[in-house]
Amino acid sequence: MEEKEKYIMCNHCKRLIKDKDDLVVAFDFFAMNPYHSECFAQRSKNNFFMNGNPVNGTVSNAVTVFFGLAGLLVSFTDYYILTIVSIVHLSTRLYSYFKYEKILEE
Ligand SMILES: [Zn+2]
Repeated sequence: MEEKEKYIMCNHCKRLIKDKDDLVVAFDFFAMNPYHSECFAQRSKNNFFMNGNPVNGTVSNAVTVFFGLAGLLVSFTDYYILTIVSIVHLSTRLYSYFKYEKILEE
């Protein structure tokens, strides 16, 4: 049986991320990349275009809850675009969780 990879490589310093608390998942344009929390802070400082909120941060979690509720509400109305946005956001959140965060949880 194949052993599942239990480590994640930081996209900034290319070293392994071993602790879930140290993991920051962020969008680089349309690619999702893992970083150490320190590397993410450094990266944001050095690059004006890459200073968005981390996908797995507190702000993002609040947004996820918001979009979840908003998505539910607007599904009864004609604002389909909001439903689509909320589905996309929730999918990226789940993708980040299963691709990176879950690995470090075990
Ligand atoms: Zn790093």
